[in-house]
Amino acid sequence: MTKKPTGNEIRQTFIDFFIEHGHTAVPSISLVPGGDATLLFTNSGMVQFKDVFLGTDKRPYTRAVDSQKCMRVAGKHNDLDDVGRDDTHHTFFEMLGNWSFGDYYKKEAIAWSWQLLTDVWGLPKDKLYATCFEDEQGSIPRDDEAADIWKEQSGFDPSHVLFFGRQENFWQMAETGPCGPCSEIHLDRGEEYDNLRGTDHVCGVNGQCTRYLELWNNVFIQYNLFNDGRLEPLPAKHVDTGMGFERIVSVLQGVDSNYKTDLFTGSLDVLRSLTGHSEDQMYADFTPYRVVCDHARAAAFLIADGVVPGNAGRNYITRMIIRRGARFGTKLGLHEPFLAKVAEAVIQEYGSFYPELVKSRGAILDNLTREEIRFARTIESGTAQLENLLSELRASNQNTLDGHRAFDLYATFGLPFEISRDIAREHGLDVDEDGFRAAREEHSLASGGGKAMGKQGGEDAEFFAGILKDLQKHKKLGEHGVDYDPYTSPRVEGEVLALIANGQSVQSVSFGDQVQVILPKTGFYIESGGQVDDTGYIKSLPLNSKNLGRGAGGGSEWEIEVTSMRRASAGVIVHVGEVISGQPKVGDVAIAEVDMQRRHDIMRNHTGTHLLHAALHQVLGEHARQAGSLVAPDRLRFDFNHPEGMTAEQIERVEQIVNDAIAADMEVTPKLKAREDAIAEGAMALFGEKYGETVRTITIMPASLDMPTEGSAFHPTAAAEHEHKYSYELCGGTHLERTSDIGAFLIVSEGSAAAGVRRIEAVTGRGAYNLIAHRFKLLKHTAAVVKSSIEEVPFKVESLQDEVADLKKELASLRAQQALSMMDSQLSSVQKVKDINVLAMQIPNSNMDTLRMLADKFREKYPTEGIAVLASGLTVISAVTNDIVSRGIKAGDLITAIGGRGGGRPNLAQGSLPDPAIMNEAMSKVAKVVEEKLK
Ligand code: ATP
Ligand code: MG
Repeated sequence: MTKKPTGNEIRQTFIDFFIEHGHTAVPSISLVPGGDATLLFTNSGMVQFKDVFLGTDKRPYTRAVDSQKCMRVAGKHNDLDDVGRDDTHHTFFEMLGNWSFGDYYKKEAIAWSWQLLTDVWGLPKDKLYATCFEDEQGSIPRDDEAADIWKEQSGFDPSHVLFFGRQENFWQMAETGPCGPCSEIHLDRGEEYDNLRGTDHVCGVNGQCTRYLELWNNVFIQYNLFNDGRLEPLPAKHVDTGMGFERIVSVLQGVDSNYKTDLFTGSLDVLRSLTGHSEDQMYADFTPYRVVCDHARAAAFLIADGVVPGNAGRNYITRMIIRRGARFGTKLGLHEPFLAKVAEAVIQEYGSFYPELVKSRGAILDNLTREEIRFARTIESGTAQLENLLSELRASNQNTLDGHRAFDLYATFGLPFEISRDIAREHGLDVDEDGFRAAREEHSLASGGGKAMGKQGGEDAEFFAGILKDLQKHKKLGEHGVDYDPYTSPRVEGEVLALIANGQSVQSVSFGDQVQVILPKTGFYIESGGQVDDTGYIKSLPLNSKNLGRGAGGGSEWEIEVTSMRRASAGVIVHVGEVISGQPKVGDVAIAEVDMQRRHDIMRNHTGTHLLHAALHQVLGEHARQAGSLVAPDRLRFDFNHPEGMTAEQIERVEQIVNDAIAADMEVTPKLKAREDAIAEGAMALFGEKYGETVRTITIMPASLDMPTEGSAFHPTAAAEHEHKYSYELCGGTHLERTSDIGAFLIVSEGSAAAGVRRIEAVTGRGAYNLIAHRFKLLKHTAAVVKSSIEEVPFKVESLQDEVADLKKELASLRAQQALSMMDSQLSSVQKVKDINVLAMQIPNSNMDTLRMLADKFREKYPTEGIAVLASGLTVISAVTNDIVSRGIKAGDLITAIGGRGGGRPNLAQGSLPDPAIMNEAMSKVAKVVEEKLK
């Protein structure tokens, strides 16, 4: 049995086949069609050639072949309803196509498609059908030309030409313009594929069941359609074909579903490893698996083409696809974000043909997970609300949910229309799509949507200064503006003072809007001193005595995800984020809450940074001063002055000292002081940093002085003589209360950052745990591979290395022996060119040393009148006895003359040949070259 071709091989076979027939391979265009505002997504191969068909553009080729990324999820082509329910429709899919622009026509197109399907791919000829066009209205001529060509194909059953009308077999680009008849190729997959077996249905090509599969559509563009319905023949006729890639792969791999091809194996494996289902269990309820795989793949390709989740247009589709995928995941019991894991498998499968996936890997994984997390916060309340509406609907004997209601669910809970409709349908009900659209339109008009976010950076400082003045005038803010306290207030209550969207101050915003929020006070840290911004949430305050009566009712609940912070102008601190549910309004009372888990990770890294700084002073000296730093949740990066790389021993000691300081459970104490005093006390200040009159200091010192334990590398007295301070720095960052909260500290890398500046990257707490767990896993894996216990891995690896070295030595000596005996046997085949003994010979598996030894051996035998050219792999050596050198033949010239490159002495040269394919030819040239040189 021959091995089944992989999807990647099948795509390549298609492309290669048409290249062999004079086609130029053209890359896919983006899913976002450039310069075509009428189209949301590229939905067929034709999109990138539209201009050529319209005659407004020309290409340097007249035949092309491609695999085009397509999305059919909106507009005229929307297959979303079929996805997951059947095995042959996707939202995202690839369309293979061959193209003729005024070049070949029906004869070649049909013959080649027949040849590829039957000769190259070996599909059974008696199972293939071809449809041709016959106008049911009788005004456009029947395409007998195509039908006749089909009947000429060898082995094609003439009764398998079937005629269909305009709907199926006539293609037009638009109301007017290029158009023509199509010829589709269908495959009869056999009775067992009939999903309606035993029922009364049309079982045939373009019938009702799944037995006959449409594989490939060949469009013959031959007319120009005018306003008045007149058709005129085009001067140049074109061929436009589209074959469903996933479908042909399913056929060639002999599986009954696109999802059972190797294109989806990786994704399904990931999902099954998460659900714990067996294959049988998966197939028993395959729909959610199919939907998740389809949507994860589509989302990955969309994000790679720059379409991130958002509120309108294309971005809405990406959001909807991700959320819908996540909801089908919940049907499989998956509640934690999981789509990024599936997307990894997609990148793995498609990355080599579509490198944009690899390039955008970070963005893909990030956007998927963020969107899932946002959705997870509202999906339950959203669906609960919807279920209420659906019950009311049923109670009043109606079956279609009002579109405005569905839009409210989107605007409030981020529940996309398509998901509301899924849920309604699960209850046997429906949602009014037109109503939803109308509501959305009204809303986007009302909120001035569509405009880009306003000025960024410092450019809008004046605008924000104006807002501040206004708020101060109305006594909403005091003279210092927004109150900033990241140290003691991770949760702050306050009135929403201002909302800024699209660069304007607005009264309210709603789901999906990018927004900047001003509150009277904030506990969110703003990036400074290397420590990154806090993130978190601002929520409407749950109804209580304080805000009773203020917009009461479920609709007043809202939430904003804060993704970054800004000091927009003096006294104005804004929370930057996105509305993830509800409709926040100016005047609402809200609570702003820092993501404390993330903040804790940051604090571990910040306090850890101070310990590291102190430890570096101990190990390297006082000159090892901070030159830059980054304190993020997942790692810390610390740059310091030091002229050379640290030794492994120094790195180990630093790590040890920091961990001892952690275990010593020291107290971390912030204090405000006069700058002069702090500096006089020896607090470390950063060169080049500006400090005010009052500074914040961070002291780390043992709670009691008899702390250090025996054998500890930590000596507080050595670290900071004054007052037994272990570390004393000027710092505005947020810190732990005690060092033991850091947990563990591990140095990940030490390297150069700039001349005289070294950089250490390290992890603490959860980051350290993850690193240990990851390394441990690798170690366990290594132990299993080398078949030893973990403790013995180093010895085992060493002994394996010894063994390999011995074997290498043995092999080399065996090869040398072998080469020698080969040489001996070949000496008899030395050719005579005039009086000269010429040996040209290939000796497999020999290195330069062996070749040199053989050359010596040759010269022993022929001290005069001898030339040897010896080669192995691409390596060549050439030896010429001295008497021949004086007759004008140099060793190096011989190598050049046979097509190689090299050099050396006149009597012994070495070099290489560029290509193994020319080796035989090169060696056979030697004698001739010698002869010519003698002339
Ligand atoms: P179908 O009737 O099966 O939906 P179609 O008539 O919409 O197909 P075309 O527009 O002619 O298909 O597209 C060309 C080819 O692309 C089809 O022959 C089919 O193999 C494939 N194809 C079309 N839609 C999809 C889809 N949603 N998912 C995967 N492949 C598709
Ligand atoms: Mg279709």
